[in-house]
Amino acid sequence: MTRHYNFCAGPAALPTSVLERARDELLDYRGRGLSVMEMSHRGEDFVAIAEQAEADLRELLAIPDNYRVLFTQGGASLQFAAVPYNLLGAGGRANFLHTGIWGKKAISEARHLFGDVHVAASSEGNGHSAVPRQEEIVLSDDAAYLHYTANETIGGLAFDYIPGSNGEGPRRPDGSEVPLVCDMSSSILSGPLDVSKFGVIYAGAQKNIGPAGLVVVIIRDDLLDRARHYMPTLFSYQALSEAGSMVNTPATYSWYLAGLVFDWLKQDVGGLAAMDAINQRKAARLYAAIDGSALYANPITLRNRSRMNVPFVLADPRLDRPFLDEAEAAGLLNLKGHRSVGGMRASLYNAVPEAAVEALIDFMADFEKRRG
Ligand code: PMP
Repeated sequence: MTRHYNFCAGPAALPTSVLERARDELLDYRGRGLSVMEMSHRGEDFVAIAEQAEADLRELLAIPDNYRVLFTQGGASLQFAAVPYNLLGAGGRANFLHTGIWGKKAISEARHLFGDVHVAASSEGNGHSAVPRQEEIVLSDDAAYLHYTANETIGGLAFDYIPGSNGEGPRRPDGSEVPLVCDMSSSILSGPLDVSKFGVIYAGAQKNIGPAGLVVVIIRDDLLDRARHYMPTLFSYQALSEAGSMVNTPATYSWYLAGLVFDWLKQDVGGLAAMDAINQRKAARLYAAIDGSALYANPITLRNRSRMNVPFVLADPRLDRPFLDEAEAAGLLNLKGHRSVGGMRASLYNAVPEAAVEALIDFMADFEKRRG
């Protein structure tokens, strides 16, 4: 058996030790004579798995007691609709920071469902190569919340600050505070986080959390009753919270695997500060290799370069195909950039080991020597 190095943007690499544990428990979960996949979600065993996963996530992120954690479905994309459904009930407009393709999708969904939205700042003007500065963010008088994408997975553009963090939070022109909502799909758990700065955090699981099919939502409890209109029950944070995320059958196996990943982060990695240091090293090594070469280039302003997704182009696009073919032959998988932008992208999520980055850098240098 060979496990290659996987740089996929999502579904992404999982820690080998997590997969080994899942394998060992696959047919017979701890002597129960059945698989987690086959268990009732309301039975004692699965409820214990679910509760442990939440407890470990709370510990990793130091989630304050006045926040609820939901394990839901529909991908991060469903949250583009669920957030306005849940938070616009009392009126007001959704405010957005537009920093790339995912932010734009969130804007478009809210606009189609609820009409007018306000873009409080955008990086469109610089081709999404630098995020707007804090002082450029101007909320509308009627802002109900401010939504942003912490890490644009396709563009490789990441915020280097939390909006509103220069004061106590994002504020309307009259000085009143609005909740901050963050799509953290591709950066959650990559390092420590001050959850108390946020109203809602959501993340699709298939990058740093576990397999696809699960979305984690972290919501401050005073925001649970902002909805005024009926909405599909499965969108409702209140309903999900009251039912312990079991309004209907949850994605039990993905939830269990997420729990194994949280345990790996705690026990094997040693927590998010340790993870942060590893991620810092991985990204620094790869960007240094790109910047030091004549063949590869990354266009993002230094302070906003993503540690999780590193897009780069080759000086001669005719070399793209040979690069990808030879990388794959060398056991370096899924380096092709998103179909909308082309080029390459190496995603360096938590489960991508430092050795994978070293192998990629060696391959890139060798390729440049031969073909550059
Ligand atoms: N937001 C971000 C930042 C993403 O990277 C993605 C998926 N790559 C999404 C939202 C959409 O996630 P999903 O496919 O789970 O709906």
